[in-house]
Amino acid sequence: MSSNLPLGKKVRKKGRPPAREHILFRDIKQIAKLGDFDWDITTNKIFCSEEVYQIFGIPVKTVGVPLEDFLSSIHRDDLPMMLDTLHATFSGQNELRLKCRIYTPLGLTKKVIIRGKNLPVSPGGSSRLLGTVQDITEQSRMEEKLMISTKMFLNSNDAIMLTGADSTILDVNPAFSQITGFSKSEAIGKKPSLLKSGHHDDYFYKQMWTNLNKNGQWEGEIWDRRKNGEIYPKWLTIHVVKNLKNEPRNYIAMFSDRSSEKMAEQNLRKLSHFDMLTGLPNFNLFRELFEQSILHSNRKKTLLAVLFLDLDNFKAVNETLGHTAGDELLAAAARRIKECLREGDPVCRLGGDDFHILMTELSNVNHPAELAGKLQEAFAKPFELAGREIFSTISTGIAVFPQDGEDAEQLFKQAGNALQQAKKNGGSQYRFANHAMLAKAQERLNLKNSLRHAMEHNELFLHFQPKLALKTNHITSLEVLLRWNKPDEGMIPPDRFIPLAEESGLIIPLGEWILWEACKQMKAWEISGMPPMRAAVNLSGKQLSGVDVPKLVEGVLSRTGLAPRHLELELTESSLMENADHSIHMLNALREMGVELSIDDFGTGYSSLSYLKKFPINSLKIDKSFVNDITTNSDDAAIASTIIAMGHTLNLNIIAEGVETREQLVFLNREGCDYIQGYVISRPVSALEYAEFIKARHPSPTPLK
Ligand code: C2E
Ligand code: CA
Ligand code: CA
Repeated sequence: MSSNLPLGKKVRKKGRPPAREHILFRDIKQIAKLGDFDWDITTNKIFCSEEVYQIFGIPVKTVGVPLEDFLSSIHRDDLPMMLDTLHATFSGQNELRLKCRIYTPLGLTKKVIIRGKNLPVSPGGSSRLLGTVQDITEQSRMEEKLMISTKMFLNSNDAIMLTGADSTILDVNPAFSQITGFSKSEAIGKKPSLLKSGHHDDYFYKQMWTNLNKNGQWEGEIWDRRKNGEIYPKWLTIHVVKNLKNEPRNYIAMFSDRSSEKMAEQNLRKLSHFDMLTGLPNFNLFRELFEQSILHSNRKKTLLAVLFLDLDNFKAVNETLGHTAGDELLAAAARRIKECLREGDPVCRLGGDDFHILMTELSNVNHPAELAGKLQEAFAKPFELAGREIFSTISTGIAVFPQDGEDAEQLFKQAGNALQQAKKNGGSQYRFANHAMLAKAQERLNLKNSLRHAMEHNELFLHFQPKLALKTNHITSLEVLLRWNKPDEGMIPPDRFIPLAEESGLIIPLGEWILWEACKQMKAWEISGMPPMRAAVNLSGKQLSGVDVPKLVEGVLSRTGLAPRHLELELTESSLMENADHSIHMLNALREMGVELSIDDFGTGYSSLSYLKKFPINSLKIDKSFVNDITTNSDDAAIASTIIAMGHTLNLNIIAEGVETREQLVFLNREGCDYIQGYVISRPVSALEYAEFIKARHPSPTPLK
């Protein structure tokens, strides 16, 4: 500060216009909230510029005022420091610089900085302190704010990332590094795509930017990738900072890691989705599963059933034994239900004693009927409650998708109606929403049950159907076909009961029995002098996965003494494809043994000849559905011819099954088919009839080709 420092205009003589530089300087001082003073120590009079009065908020005085007038404005806590500083200034330090708070008469607190210089004592002994007072309230508030912001930036648990308008990362805070794994130096200068997980598509980011630019802000959940590769959910908020031209200047992104929140959310979901008493899913979760399953069934064209269960005398138990016993019964009932279910079939408690079971991927309505029967059996046993044996049977209503309804709502309702019917009829039983379905299911169930006894009661036996070798016109092989003569119903066609035997697993012992019987019969014929022939036995897909076929075949052949070349196995393409690797392995073992192998029903399944090359097979049987129309339908004729030609290129023998007419035979012969089988030669017949048939055709033995 110089000695020509202009003093406040109040101390200037009136009437003299201020010089231009004076005006300018005055304005600057006003803007800077800078006042100046001249303190005559000797007289203790302070002359101030107008700004000083303004800062202190006290009326302007044209005469010098004593220091005390100002001291009363100084903040009590800052006063000692101020006096000390003044003292130091006068005791040789000369320079004054202090920050202190002042009160204004209006009750405001301001922060000021006072700077000054103790001028050398004039020869006349007067001493002066010239200086300035600056109001730094706002500035220090800003500084404070900045300090708080910095503190917040550094200490925030939320990650903060500042980018430029071109999205280059300019700064990140420690939480950012903690969450993302990228240090500040690794992040700065990079683009936020550094954090991308690939979880969201371009459309997602496009939407985000559109919203951000439109609203100046975006927030939402986003999945990003940490430096260590882990993908995590975060809640992200982005703010746009615009410049004066309203263009984005910076983006501030803030985010928090939601991984643990998500976990808590999942736990909460679990809690809200499970019934505390039984541990079963509650209705909310069940319904979700149900709806998903309906969509799935729709796509896969499979059946789905919902069973609505109700304990027949729960109310009575609750009333007579009390709620604790009632709760115990429910928990025990839930356990019993679960024991009856297939893995993965969901069950829920609706509240009270009502349970829902969902059965998916059904091929027929037998399964729900069977389950309902199984549940009934399970509930026929008593429960032990409060030291007593309690009987609590159940009733069940069954609704099937898509027959009984197309959505969860309708199906629940239908199952409920069926349950009411079951209850009305006295309980302890199940009912289908659709009565016809019940009849169908029950018929199948009855059949399945009686099949179990059919084997022991000699109701099952074998029929034999010859196959004719077209080149030699000799019968060299036959197909073994199972028959069931049910005492009260007569002959049941295998198409009706083989699937039931497969479903119940009965096909395993049954298949074994067929193989034994067929081989025994062949050996008996061989001994009796019948021309040697090969017996083709059908194998079900269930046998392929359920038994060690080569081992079984080897055992049967060695014990019956039948040569392996006298046995052929017919398998369908689909059963082989189900587990192709296992099939190839198994077929190789059989081929090594000398057993012949053929593909049955060819043309109805995958019909991939190139794929068939992988299987070590001897022959293909053209399905009878093609043979049927070869003389009338050119497509079928073409298919049959192609199978024959292509089969031959793969060195396979071709057999046509279901040949009923001479015309079909002639066509097939012309096309080069190797064998035919069908009513045109003979229907499948009993062992006795077969022996007679052969005797009539082959008066003398014919060696096997
Ligand atoms: P498949 O193996 O295709 O058997 C051929 C079917 O065609 C037999 O029906 C046979 O009686 C019938 N068939 C034979 N010639 C003609 C004909 O000229 N015209 C017509 N329309 N049909 C003819 P079947 O005996 O009713 O057997 C049906 C299916 O049941 C069999 O089809 C086979 O898949 C299964 N099956 C029969 N016996 C057994 C067996 O012992 N084990 C296994 N796993 N399945 C068997
Ligand atoms: Ca067959
Ligand atoms: Ca067939």
